[in-house]
Amino acid sequence: MASRKQSSSKNEKQAPRLTRQRTIVLDVVCAEDMHPTAAEVFHEAQKAMPGISFATVYNSLRYLKEEGLVREITFGNGASRYDSVTDRHDHAICSMCGKLVDFDLPGTVALTRAAARASHFQAESVHLTLYGRCQKCRNKK
Ligand code: ZN
Ligand code: MN
Repeated sequence: MASRKQSSSKNEKQAPRLTRQRTIVLDVVCAEDMHPTAAEVFHEAQKAMPGISFATVYNSLRYLKEEGLVREITFGNGASRYDSVTDRHDHAICSMCGKLVDFDLPGTVALTRAAARASHFQAESVHLTLYGRCQKCRNKK
């Protein structure tokens, strides 16, 4: 039997290994556009798999992020939140209730170029965050 060398081409991207745990975690992040924290994902994942541990959820999130299936976003010193929308987009965050909403403006590409010129950096990514109060919190008295 001829010994076969395992092909180890570096640009050959392997499909993500989605175990049951990782699939559950991915489903939770994708379920709504709620941008959950790891603790919130853990809480939801327990409903689908009662024995799942926080460490497993956390490691799954890290794996899914490395595979480009979810995005980790952080605001200030708040807990990381996870986003199933991996295309470039921006967020508005409510300073009262923490509600996080997606938005994407046509002007961001031009803004990226202007920011690159002003900073003499090569642009890789720009993220805008609108801080304010959501409609629900504004209506609260
Ligand atoms: Zn709010
Ligand atoms: Mn988002």
